Amino acid sequence: MPNLSTHLKLGVFTYPVFVLVYNLITVLLGKEFSPGVIDLSIGYVFFVFGSDLPDLDSNSAPLRAFTKALSLGFAIYIFYSFIYEKLSTVAAIPAILLMPISIFLSMLIGIGVVNLFLSLPLFSHRGFAHSITFAAIYGLMLYLFSYRMSKIPLFIGICGFCGVMVHMVADYYKKPLKIFKLK
Ligand SMILES: [Zn+2]
Repeated sequence: MPNLSTHLKLGVFTYPVFVLVYNLITVLLGKEFSPGVIDLSIGYVFFVFGSDLPDLDSNSAPLRAFTKALSLGFAIYIFYSFIYEKLSTVAAIPAILLMPISIFLSMLIGIGVVNLFLSLPLFSHRGFAHSITFAAIYGLMLYLFSYRMSKIPLFIGICGFCGVMVHMVADYYKKPLKIFKLK
């Protein structure tokens, strides 16, 4: 099984190739592909994160801890605005503390959700997190959430999906059929 460093390197170096293939496909489909630098940067982050994400279920502690820690960035993205809004109605909290408290609470919810998911039997090592379904869910979530930050959410979603698939190829290139396992 490739380690964290190998998975990260693969994610990093396959991204330009992925963008090339994505561009070629849009040309073939007669569509325009003109991402801004923000789209390309966000796409990169989610692609590389995706290329390590399945090992959230790994028995190897550094991998698991690293992926868990990174996934809290996503929790901040999802929960921060809601919590900030609620807390700002509480007069007892000084304005300067609203931001750090909101970040902290978002992370707390995130770690709760991640631990809850990981305790499910579904997330035994190389279980559901190593499947094309998981890749599709990750891609779909990114597609839905990137509406707020990108004009081309489909590109961001596909970045995430393909990042996870790069991981699958690295794990299962000796048993290629497993790359497309559904669960
Ligand atoms: Zn793996």
